[in-house]
Amino acid sequence: MIFKTTPAVEEMKERVCSLHTELLRWGLVTWTSGNVSGRVPGTDLIVIKPSGVSYDDLTPDLMVVTDLEGKVLAGDLAPSSDAESHNVVYQRMPEVGGVVHTHSPYATAWAARAEPIPCVLTAMADEFGGEIPLGPFALIGSDAIGKGIVDTLSGHRSPAVIMQNHGVFTIGKDPKAAVKAAVMAEDVARTVHFARQLGEPVPIAQEHIDSLYDRYQNVYGQQPSSKEQ
Ligand SMILES: [Zn+2]
Repeated sequence: MIFKTTPAVEEMKERVCSLHTELLRWGLVTWTSGNVSGRVPGTDLIVIKPSGVSYDDLTPDLMVVTDLEGKVLAGDLAPSSDAESHNVVYQRMPEVGGVVHTHSPYATAWAARAEPIPCVLTAMADEFGGEIPLGPFALIGSDAIGKGIVDTLSGHRSPAVIMQNHGVFTIGKDPKAAVKAAVMAEDVARTVHFARQLGEPVPIAQEHIDSLYDRYQNVYGQQPSSKEQ
């Protein structure tokens, strides 16, 4: 069957392509080591970065479109070598519309120590609802990384997981939300790292974490009624 593109597919190619500039802007990637993907809403189509292409050379037309099993439907280049990990997440977490992977340095330093990032900042309670959890060690080239991400994040508030000895994977309702989680994960990884240099960071009580998370997720930001004020 020949793949026929749609406006929604083309829009997702543009969004996924341009979000890679955010990885550069926030210092999350070195050379070609990070990638963003997105699910075309309401479909089983995944748009992902091609493997080994410099971020400066990325254009929407170079983005690779695959099905959930990773079969390439459109695009001249091979998909990111992390595509299988992304696909396992999309297969098993139907609510996920975007996945990001980076080796951002501070978060990956926690991965090298195989240590979750404890919830010691209100911004962490807001964004992650608690600690950023640690996922298992897994070798690339099978579905082990994807399974480790899904097993760790299923039922967890955090949209970010630190995979042991590897780096960060984040999920979101769309690719932009997953990129935001990757930026925020690196930010708190850095701050808690600095705190550790000076002493032992102080945990936040669970009841306060719960109320911060609830407020940020449900109340914070622009409310429809605020337009009338
Ligand atoms: Zn990696």
